Amino acid sequence: MARTRIHTAIKFIFAFFLLFLTGRDGCAAAGQKQIIVVLRCDDYSSRSSPEIETRLIDALKRYNVPCTFGVIPYVCARDFEDMSEQACMPLSSVKAGILKRGITEGVLDVALHGYSHQTCLDEKQGGYAEFSGQSYDKQLKKIRDGKDLLESMLDIQVDIFIPPWNRYGPDTLKALEGLGFRCISAGPYGDAEQASGLKFLPATCTLPELREAVGSAGRIPDDQPVIVAYFHANSFLDINKRGGLWFSEFEGLLDWLGSRKDINVLSAAEAVDMVADLSARRLIHYRSFLRSFYLLPSFLRPSSRLVYFHSEDAYRSHIIYWRGVTLFFYAGILLCSFCPAFFAGLLIFPRLRSAEKIFKYCGAGILVLFSIYAFHDLVINYKGAIGVTALLGGCIGVWTASWRLKKP
Ligand SMILES: [Zn+2]
Repeated sequence: MARTRIHTAIKFIFAFFLLFLTGRDGCAAAGQKQIIVVLRCDDYSSRSSPEIETRLIDALKRYNVPCTFGVIPYVCARDFEDMSEQACMPLSSVKAGILKRGITEGVLDVALHGYSHQTCLDEKQGGYAEFSGQSYDKQLKKIRDGKDLLESMLDIQVDIFIPPWNRYGPDTLKALEGLGFRCISAGPYGDAEQASGLKFLPATCTLPELREAVGSAGRIPDDQPVIVAYFHANSFLDINKRGGLWFSEFEGLLDWLGSRKDINVLSAAEAVDMVADLSARRLIHYRSFLRSFYLLPSFLRPSSRLVYFHSEDAYRSHIIYWRGVTLFFYAGILLCSFCPAFFAGLLIFPRLRSAEKIFKYCGAGILVLFSIYAFHDLVINYKGAIGVTALLGGCIGVWTASWRLKKP
């Protein structure tokens, strides 16, 4: 009986790891479909580099690929992260002219990217934000003033909003709906009211991750995968040594996107018109999926995280699969820390009685202290979770060895 159970357990573990190794996205290849790719370039303002932006628009035109520019209407004069009083620089006529050329050539559309992009203190969430944490009236005024400036200078309708640092709150959504915006493009973790009339088009990856995202979108059995790759003018190594890619690599990406028959590159405004479902419900599913593996180290995370897919069945199966992987991962850590501690205890304690108490009580004390340190801000990350699990396994091993030795 026991032998049958062991065999069943071994078969189950083997099947699970086979699935893990052969299909981390947990699905078979799907038939021909259109993968929607949206390119989003943030932080265009009076302070951003006109040289690289002009090159950018030229390249978009040459490869006939559209892009959405997130434009800051009244950029703060010094530093985004400096919370002290700063002057604001309205979008200059030169920079508006560059945008107008791109709009006329049909390669870019414009989204409102905050007001000044200056950090305000968000006492509730902490971290950088221009909008979340601010009063509704303040947010409404900033968004209205920014929209008015862009619309009057560019002679277009601006109805897509990109919050700086991808952060916003429920009052931001309320203000956007009141001002006639159609879509918000932030990250995956913002507020999303099911009843909201806004469309949600979250950024899913960076430019260097784009090829991996497209590969994963091809494997997911989903009729409407969307990838939003975001970047900034200073993402290029040509002007910033901390950038993510060279401009020539970006041109290579544009060429590759244009050559793929299964990829449809759209601007954000085109995606809002053409993608059937960009509802809050889709964002909520995407967020649940991302949360299903957030306790895994980054090298174990699936490439499907870079794709905003649509099918609720696909989300369901991915969530179950990745919760299972997470469970196995932590069970493995528990076992790997339990076994050496247990056997070391069996070996050492009979020979060195004083070591038993030291290991038992010091180990428990270290576990408690580390747990307080790891979870003090009530945010669990994978490094803290791995440390606590390993210490817990070690403590259980030591205490079990001690109990086993006392057993007559
Ligand atoms: Zn920004």
